[in-house]
Amino acid sequence: MSRTALVTGASRGIGRAIALELAGRGNPVVVNYTSRSEAADEVVAAIEAMGGKGLAVGADVSDPQQVERLFTEANEAFGPVEILVNNAGITADNLLLRMTPEDFDRVIATNLRSVFLCSKAAIRGMLRSRWGRVISISSVAGLAGNPGQANYAASKAGLIGFSKSVSKEVGSRSITVNVVAPGFITTDMTDGLSDEVRQTILGSIAIGRFGDPAEVAAVVGFLSSEEAAYVTGQVISVDGGLAL
Ligand code: NAP
Repeated sequence: MSRTALVTGASRGIGRAIALELAGRGNPVVVNYTSRSEAADEVVAAIEAMGGKGLAVGADVSDPQQVERLFTEANEAFGPVEILVNNAGITADNLLLRMTPEDFDRVIATNLRSVFLCSKAAIRGMLRSRWGRVISISSVAGLAGNPGQANYAASKAGLIGFSKSVSKEVGSRSITVNVVAPGFITTDMTDGLSDEVRQTILGSIAIGRFGDPAEVAAVVGFLSSEEAAYVTGQVISVDGGLAL
């Protein structure tokens, strides 16, 4: 059965792979981005080349008005959103004593406030159709912490508490709310790591390599499916054994 899907931050990296995975499962997909419209258009073209339906919508998901417009455009194109993937995320790393209040707030707004705003907008419709899937992308940093990432780790741990709470509010309406926590995945976000840091990280990954965005997308695909109806309030790590 096809369900309208919306993936935030789907122009690149993990979000792009999730958009393609959900389209491959027969769902029309809204491809959200914030500034790179050509990249989002390319994702839509890839979806259409697979015989699917996609729509690129630019919106800053930390802003309530823009989120409202995003869901209105999604609804007008494909009907109410039944699969929401909260994937958009940024980093602004620094050690605590050098971290500015602005960098703290920006990361919390983009990575956590967005999850609140988009989940609220989507769940309103899901309650009406008595079916829904909300999947938010956390991080190994949200589970274990990471030096230099206090703001990022707080946002990623925050969305876990948020998701567990909401899963208990909406479970009786056949709406599941889950979290996927990737380890180190090859994307623009991890491209900037130095060789030294890369080697240190590799030494603690049981599988012995960084992950591919498609490997995160496959788990999101399962959680979005009918078969995952009895999985809710969970955090599933996709980290090659890093958090062991
Ligand atoms: P990425 O390659 O840097 O892509 C980030 C995406 O988020 C882009 O599509 C970007 O849009 C979008 N975005 C940023 N701010 C936004 C905003 N305010 N509103 C809407 N969209 C926004 O990131 P990634 O590595 O794929 O990471 C995706 C998610 O996985 C993030 O939540 C990240 O924290 C998490 N994660 C990543 C890793 C990893 O190793 N890569 C590990 C753990 C968790 P534009 O293209 O328009 O800029």
